[in-house]
Amino acid sequence: MKKIILRKGKEESLGRFHPWIFSGAIHHTESDVALEEGDIVEVLSFDGQFLAIGHWQIGSIAVRVLTFKQQPINQSFWAKRFSAALDVRKAIGVAGREDNDIYRLVHGEGDNLPGLVVDVYGSTAVMQAHSVGMHVCRNDLANALKEVMGEDLKAVYYKSETTLPFKAQLGQENGFLWGESNDDVARENGLQFHIDWLKGQKTGFFVDQRDNRSLVEQYAQGRKVLNMFCYTGGFSVYAMRGGAELVHSVDSSAKAVELVDANMHLNFPNDHRHKAFAEDAFRYMVEMQEKYDLIILDPPAFAKHKDALRNALRGYTKLNAKAFEKIKPGGILFTFSCSQAVNKDNFRTAVFTAAAMARRKVRILHQLHQPADHPVNIYHPEGEYLKGLVLYVE
Ligand code: SAH
Repeated sequence: MKKIILRKGKEESLGRFHPWIFSGAIHHTESDVALEEGDIVEVLSFDGQFLAIGHWQIGSIAVRVLTFKQQPINQSFWAKRFSAALDVRKAIGVAGREDNDIYRLVHGEGDNLPGLVVDVYGSTAVMQAHSVGMHVCRNDLANALKEVMGEDLKAVYYKSETTLPFKAQLGQENGFLWGESNDDVARENGLQFHIDWLKGQKTGFFVDQRDNRSLVEQYAQGRKVLNMFCYTGGFSVYAMRGGAELVHSVDSSAKAVELVDANMHLNFPNDHRHKAFAEDAFRYMVEMQEKYDLIILDPPAFAKHKDALRNALRGYTKLNAKAFEKIKPGGILFTFSCSQAVNKDNFRTAVFTAAAMARRKVRILHQLHQPADHPVNIYHPEGEYLKGLVLYVE
């Protein structure tokens, strides 16, 4: 196996099981042939001690660690990791259920599989590689999935066209790695959703808001609901089931509005409480006439990198201030940030500033986060990304 030797003292973070090795930690490589992106490499300390095995690629994160033990990385290795991940999903009650067959089976570092995401939608698994190494292993990974999921799985769709480093020039295309499926309807807590794994964002659905959507359902009774940044309308469908008086869904993308209408039709045909609008969030909130008493703000990540943090925080403040200004007295605001670079405290400060700008009395009712099928590896706190607040606005 090709070897990577770290500089003196750079083995420390591996001793704490952190799964990344930054390029600056590398002293030299030992190999007869040149390293290629996606190679499986053995990582040694400066004095030659075995530390880990991982995937190498060009970039600031040079190695993503797969194991801290000497062991072959093959289909049976992947199958063991998948099987452990599936046990967790069964333990938390999202897998193996009739009424719920949408869940995240693999959440990268959270499942000791850095660079890989697998979402299950009924009998189709959508696999997404974020590292060149996982891309290189994609067929073994798909076979291992098949082995672990058995009859429950009919197809594996690979969707990594936009998640792999562009510079690696892998020429990857989206498509089925095995099997095929046209059945795009899957279930979440008894509600049905069309999943657009072909063209949709992420793997086709925002699986990470499941628990938070259930909480919206609990608060929806008799309320006028605005679901801002609705995408496929997950929050809207739950609000309808929760007995909302009316539900308005807004997204700047016309495609999203089509998706939310289709999902509404699937669950509540001929129910006239719902309407969807293709409009810019801020413009809609400035101009809206309807007085809402439950507003959901789930914008896209404003800060994809640390450098963008200040602007992102300003964006959250501006958006939330508008919602505070407009929401009815006694209203409930669900507000989220999915930017990894924005931490819980920063986000709370941005929302606090917004409340003060609108001069409203606000209580924090719930502090929300990503669900259990998006686990955080305790040695990799960077895996925490979704945060939300549920606020009572007097
Ligand atoms: N709440 C959704 C996920 C939201 S993803 C769910 O539970 O599935 C963010 C969405 O914001 C995307 O669909 C994107 O089209 C939309 N969006 C981005 N910028 C916007 C803007 N300025 N105004 C309205 N919608 C916007």
